[in-house]
Amino acid sequence: MTYLNVDEVEDALTSLSRTYSNTSQIVELPNKSIEGRTIHALIIGKNKANRKNKSILFTGSVHAREWGGSDICVYFAADLLEAYSKDTGLRYQDQYFESSQIRRIIEETNIIIVPDVNPDGKAYSQGGPANVLWRRNRNPDESHGEPDCIGVDLNRNYDLLWDFTECFAPDARVETSADPCDPRQRYRGSAVFSEPETRNIKWLLDEFEGIGHYMDIHCAVGAIYYCWGIDQNQVLEAKQNFRNAQYDKVRGIENDKEYKEYIPLTDYNYVKDLASTFANALENVRGTRYSVEQSFGLYPTSGAGDDYAFSRHFLDVDKNKVYSFTLEFGKDDFQPPWSEMKEIIVEVCSGLVAFCDSIVLNSSIE
Ligand SMILES: [Zn+2]
Repeated sequence: MTYLNVDEVEDALTSLSRTYSNTSQIVELPNKSIEGRTIHALIIGKNKANRKNKSILFTGSVHAREWGGSDICVYFAADLLEAYSKDTGLRYQDQYFESSQIRRIIEETNIIIVPDVNPDGKAYSQGGPANVLWRRNRNPDESHGEPDCIGVDLNRNYDLLWDFTECFAPDARVETSADPCDPRQRYRGSAVFSEPETRNIKWLLDEFEGIGHYMDIHCAVGAIYYCWGIDQNQVLEAKQNFRNAQYDKVRGIENDKEYKEYIPLTDYNYVKDLASTFANALENVRGTRYSVEQSFGLYPTSGAGDDYAFSRHFLDVDKNKVYSFTLEFGKDDFQPPWSEMKEIIVEVCSGLVAFCDSIVLNSSIE
């Protein structure tokens, strides 16, 4: 066994949806990848056909070289579906989930997984030793024939403070680039949502209006991040927020007094607790401690998917609030040896089940 390739991920989704047809179904996303691949989501849940149902979204391998995100999504789906069909619990070494917890998850929420958001990029990265560190998609439009200038960093292409030269302080260390040939592969694309792969995620958020939580699965830090990535969070000054143009050219500086990003206190406490629940259940498997941090702690972000998903409600209160997280599994290695990746999958799945269980439990108390 080793990492799944793009075709094997597709086969796994098809196979799961056939084996567990009462509790899962495949949905074709509306935009094919740049190279023409069809991208699928798997919807898991007793109410899979109801697109308004409360839902949790997971995405993997947005960055091409972070292969294991796809595998985590597939194994997580398989674990849940199998346990539910057999009415058993799930054991991840020392962490055990009761069958009642699995039932609650499958019956009270839908889980939407997109294991390969960026199949062109991942196929390229897996296609040969020279390409393993490819991060972007494979859009050639801005490359002017330069192979190193192909592709967009999909996690900089979302509609949230995308125009970093306008929206951030000139000396903010925003990790994005307007240069297609950026050697660190952070090119944001020619416009917001210029890429079919990011438009698919927007479509899911639009179409499945009950999505209330989102986790984008990356590597390799050993951390779970909650919003915001724009600037340090603060809970006191509601007017200091991403919508307020008065703070353009001020955002993104650490430990300054001029601007921090507003997050309502109840949201702040909620996302910290939920991220901790994830990290604790992960740690219970073999003692690996992931840090629980605000995503700004990694670096200031512009056009990122997690912040975009969370921002939607603040721009339009009719939209569901989507509590968003970025997982950075593993440590230092984009493609850990498969023997290690298997262990990572087990511990991350433990965290993911606890994450879902906590969400379902919390929403039933409300
Ligand atoms: Zn990444």
